[in-house]
Amino acid sequence: MNKRVPIVIANWKLNGGIDLLCSSVAAFIGKHFSAKIAICPPYIYMRDMLNFLQHSEIIVGTQNVSKYESGAYTGETSAQMIKRAGGGLCLVGHSERRQMFHENDPSCNIKVSRALASNLMPVLCVGENLQQREAGITNDVLFRQLHDGLADVDLTNKEICVAYEPVWAIGTGQAASPEDAQLVHEYIRSELTILFGKEIAERIHILYGGSVNKTNAYELLSQSDIDGLLVGGASLDPEHFMQICLHANTHAENIESSK
Ligand code: PEP
Repeated sequence: MNKRVPIVIANWKLNGGIDLLCSSVAAFIGKHFSAKIAICPPYIYMRDMLNFLQHSEIIVGTQNVSKYESGAYTGETSAQMIKRAGGGLCLVGHSERRQMFHENDPSCNIKVSRALASNLMPVLCVGENLQQREAGITNDVLFRQLHDGLADVDLTNKEICVAYEPVWAIGTGQAASPEDAQLVHEYIRSELTILFGKEIAERIHILYGGSVNKTNAYELLSQSDIDGLLVGGASLDPEHFMQICLHANTHAENIESSK
């Protein structure tokens, strides 16, 4: 039995407006969830979402964070600003940022450290593309992303998540099978153990992302090293997102009752 309480994170990407986003999570207001639920709206909607969700347990996070603390960096938002605005987590190194905005492992490494220093939980996104998968080098790609992205990171009394998001599964409707994803998650945990030791590696949540929907969510979460989900497209559909969160909640309740 997986002992980590599941986390579901919605990545809303560049979608809005505010009415659509509010309707995606309106049903969560006033409800208790044993699973942790978070949403990552575009920066501009963060305050609105925090206000809208003040009577909910939903954590609001961001889709990115600056590698800089302050200064002449037009268009950037620092970890400290996100934290002070009420943010609880930030995505780091999403594949769309790696592909389209030149983000790389060293910049992810700085972002992870900046987030941790501001007590913001970083969610480091890793994953291979189709070409790398077909070449059989998935683990090599993940090794680099983990060892470079988390180099010299100190996790004593700090929280971090890793999100395994195979690039070929993002937005394609073709999710990894639960068994395949589990094998990769197991590998990721073994590398986290090398990096941080067993105790810390065992408490790190490793999330799966890539075409998660209400049909595959339960099975994915049933795997022993899949500790949550990062959800893109399906998180914008209120009924769909609620179903995914309810599946995570069932897992969370099972974990609670087995303690
Ligand atoms: C994502 O972009 O993080 C993601 C998981 O997208 P989707 O669920 O749409 O595949």
